Amino acid sequence: AKQIVLASRPKGSPTLNNFRSETVDVAELKNGEVLLEGMYYSVDPYMRGRMNDAKSYSPPFDLDQPINGGVIAKVLESKSDILKAGDIVLGMLPWKETCTASEKDLKKIDTSIAPASYYLGVLGMTGLTAYFGLMNICKPKKGETVVISGAAGAVGVVVGQIAKIQGCRVIGIAGSDEKTKLLKTEFGFDETINYKTTKDMSKAIGMLCPNGVDIYFDNVGGEISDAVIANINFNARIALCGQIALYNSTDTPMGPRLQPMLLTRSVLMQGFIIGNFKNEFPEGIKHLAQWVKDGKIKFTETIENGFDNLPKALLGLFKGENTGKMIVKA
Ligand code: NDP
Repeated sequence: AKQIVLASRPKGSPTLNNFRSETVDVAELKNGEVLLEGMYYSVDPYMRGRMNDAKSYSPPFDLDQPINGGVIAKVLESKSDILKAGDIVLGMLPWKETCTASEKDLKKIDTSIAPASYYLGVLGMTGLTAYFGLMNICKPKKGETVVISGAAGAVGVVVGQIAKIQGCRVIGIAGSDEKTKLLKTEFGFDETINYKTTKDMSKAIGMLCPNGVDIYFDNVGGEISDAVIANINFNARIALCGQIALYNSTDTPMGPRLQPMLLTRSVLMQGFIIGNFKNEFPEGIKHLAQWVKDGKIKFTETIENGFDNLPKALLGLFKGENTGKMIVKA
C-alpha cells in the first residue's frame, strides 16, 4: 500500500519536495487490531510545526516516516472484539492507504448524525477548538462585538456561528471576496473584511467596531492582529488560537508595540491548546452535535480527491485554498 513520508524538513514555506510517496507491505493483523482503509484525511496548520525538528506540544514528525494526523477509516478486517468489518472509525493514523491499528487507538463514529468527514471538522478537533476557545476563554456576552481572523476556515466559521448563537455581533476577516460573501450569506456573520484588498486594516476594523472589539478570536496573528488590537475595547478577551501568518517565518517579525493598549484597557489575552480541554470534550461535542442537528451551525469543507494529493492539500492551507475544513478524500 502507498504511504507518504516526511522526506526533508522545510526552511520557511514547505514544498512538495519535503514529502515522498512510497509503497510498503501492510503489517500482519494481531489480536486486538483491525485492518483499515483510509477514507478521509485531515490536513491541519499545526502539521507545519511538526515538520520542524523542534520541541512543541505535539512531537516532530520523524524523517522518512509517514506523516500522521486525524483520519476517518473503514474497518476492512477485524481481530478486535469491539470493532467489526464495515465500522467507520476516527484515529490519529499514519498517511497510509491501508494500515493496521489497535482498537485502543480508535473511536467508532456515528454517521447517522452527520457525514463521516464532519468528525475531522465541526464534530472533531476544529469544532472543539472553536467551542472551547470562544466559550471558556472569551466568555461571550449578548450584544458584544466579536472579531475573528481566519474567519472562513474550519475553526473560524464555527466560532462565528457560536458567537451568533450567544447573541453577539460578529465580524469576520478572511482572504477573498468569495469567502467574505459566504460568511455573510451562509454563516450569518454581520460584517466582513477582506484583508488582502483592504489597505488600512486598523481603520476598517474601527469603522465596523465603533465601540471597540470586545472579543478577538485570533487564528492568524501578525499584522491582522496588530490592527485588531489597535481597536480593542476595555475588558476585552483575546483567545490566541493560531498564528498561521507566522508559521513559515524564518525570523521573528516585529509589529507595533500594542501592549500599553492591553494594559490600560485591562485586556485578557490567553493562548490555548485544544488538548487542555480534553476532559470536557464530550460536553463540547454534545453542544456542537445538537447545533448541527438543529441547523444552527452550518459547515463547509474543501475536499481534495486522491490520497496522493495530501501534501498539496496541506500546503494549500497556507495559500488560503480552503473554505471551511480542508480534507483529502482517498
Ligand atoms: P483553516 O481552515 O483556517 O485554514 C487556514 C487558513 O488560514 C487559510 O484558509 C487562510 O485563509 C488563512 N491563512 C493562511 N495563511 C495566512 C496568512 N499568512 N495570513 C492570514 N491568514 C492566513 O485552519 P484551521 O481552522 O484548522 O486552523 C485555524 C487556526 O487555528 C490555525 O492557526 C491553527 O494553527 C489554529 N488551531 C489551533 C488549535 C489549538 O489547539 N490552539 C487547534 C486547531 C487549530 P484566508 O484565505 O482567509 O487567508
